[in-house]
Amino acid sequence: DNSLKIENLTVEVGGRVILEDLNLEISPGSTLVLFGPNGSGKSTLIKAIMGFENYAITHGKIVFGGEVINGLSTDERAKKGIGVLFQNPPKIRGIKLRQMVELVTRRPAQEDIFVDKLNVGELMDRDLNVNFSGGEMKRSELLQVLSQRPKLLLLDEPESGVDIENIAMMGRVLNAFIREHAVASLIITHTGYVLDYVDAQHACVLMDRDIRCYDDPRKVFEDIRQFGYEKCRTCRGQ
Ligand code: ADP
Ligand code: MG
Ligand code: MG
Repeated sequence: DNSLKIENLTVEVGGRVILEDLNLEISPGSTLVLFGPNGSGKSTLIKAIMGFENYAITHGKIVFGGEVINGLSTDERAKKGIGVLFQNPPKIRGIKLRQMVELVTRRPAQEDIFVDKLNVGELMDRDLNVNFSGGEMKRSELLQVLSQRPKLLLLDEPESGVDIENIAMMGRVLNAFIREHAVASLIITHTGYVLDYVDAQHACVLMDRDIRCYDDPRKVFEDIRQFGYEKCRTCRGQ
């Protein structure tokens, strides 16, 4: 079971309530797309799921694969199979992409099928994310995440800073992986481009500290385009 269930989650950052009484469920093989205005707490949700310091859960439960994971360290959550693609990954001088992949997989990196699929062969012996283009950075991050063969994927704006062709490539690789392994996935997006490549079953909007407008992805996206986020304020959640 690789389902994610979030029950009545309240998260505080620096003494400020960012998420309040939030409920969310993603079943195995299912993809939920998360929209929401800047600063609404989308990245905070991912960091809380990963158990980052400073993202204090003051109420509620995060249940992964039927187990409450609130008490686990970030490392333990990753080992359980939660893979994250961060919005702003760190640049690390002195550590090569190859070393990073080998560290998490404990296999020679060139054996990983995603090196070819994501066309990152030429990046393997460069310092991680240092002077990478936007697209190279996201492909390198995606390689690291997929090489772990996660059971739950949390993707924070995977297409930001990436050109159309690379979005298409990443989207197809992601969709194939999600389908093949029946991975549960949460994808944060502003542009909606990812919907062209990944078969998403549901979408919702994070606003006013809670989930709103839980519906068909195309419908949610069209509504946001036409009416803006303001209309989501009166829309109910899941
Ligand atoms: P989004 O990803 O939806 O744009 P974030 O989750 O990054 O929004 O941020 C939500 C709010 O929480 C913002 O007001 C942001 O400034 C605040 N916030 C997030 N992380 C921190 C942090 N580590 N320290 C202080 N404030 C934070
Ligand atoms: Mg609620
Ligand atoms: Mg964010």
